[in-house]
Amino acid sequence: MTTLPRPRNLKPAGDPTILAAQHLIMRILVTNDDGVYSPGIAALAEVAAHFGEVRIVAPHVEMSSAAHSITASRPLTYTRTPLRGVEAYRVNGTPADCVALGTHHWEHVELVLSGINLGSNLGNAIWHSGTLAAAKQATLLGLRGIALSVPAREAEADFESLKPWVARVLDFLVPSSELALVNVNLPASTPRGMLWTRQSVRHYDGKVVPDKDPMGRQHYWFTVVPIEHVEEGTDRWAIEQGYVSMTPLRLDLTDEKQLADAQARHPIDNISFA
Ligand code: MN
Repeated sequence: MTTLPRPRNLKPAGDPTILAAQHLIMRILVTNDDGVYSPGIAALAEVAAHFGEVRIVAPHVEMSSAAHSITASRPLTYTRTPLRGVEAYRVNGTPADCVALGTHHWEHVELVLSGINLGSNLGNAIWHSGTLAAAKQATLLGLRGIALSVPAREAEADFESLKPWVARVLDFLVPSSELALVNVNLPASTPRGMLWTRQSVRHYDGKVVPDKDPMGRQHYWFTVVPIEHVEEGTDRWAIEQGYVSMTPLRLDLTDEKQLADAQARHPIDNISFA
């Protein structure tokens, strides 16, 4: 596959705001956690433009590992900064802030795309990921969110060769309106195909590494160590096998079995405080 899909919904006659309200043109907000000037977001916006009307709203600096933090203790700014002909804004806040402000300033957004992140977001990395948090923020607001990531290597990711695969992923996911939140990871080299996966949660790869600075002072790196064994069918497994990984996620973290067990053991409906 070497070509992008034909642009859809382009150049309909009439006021874009009215067309968006009538769902004749899909409004797609593109964000990330690497910062508004990342090559990853430019590549994603370019592909997204084949699926609807695109606006970029992203952090002014890198906010990787910001997770789902929001800025509540100081005001935020929303500054226009057009990128390669795309309407774009930078925000001095987190990825979640960007989705909140972006949808506040641009109504009728249906879909938020976050990425393409320079670094995989697999397994337990989902908990720290600012890329995924932006997609989650979309879902919290009743919209749809898709996060996209590629492995970070010493050499810059080859976004030109990735674009057709991103287009293929979106071709697949965008019409699937029942998928409110999807975490997509692409392998470093040309994918063998695409797989539905589950989140790998068996291992946690975060590790504190003590070190000394050049002045001999103690400091620490909170870093990621490679994990060798992966469970078949998980996101990490798919990437290891060279496939695009697509994991549908949900916001409800309730442990259904523990809830049922707890209710059976301690039927609090029967507890009287009188
Ligand atoms: Mn990042």
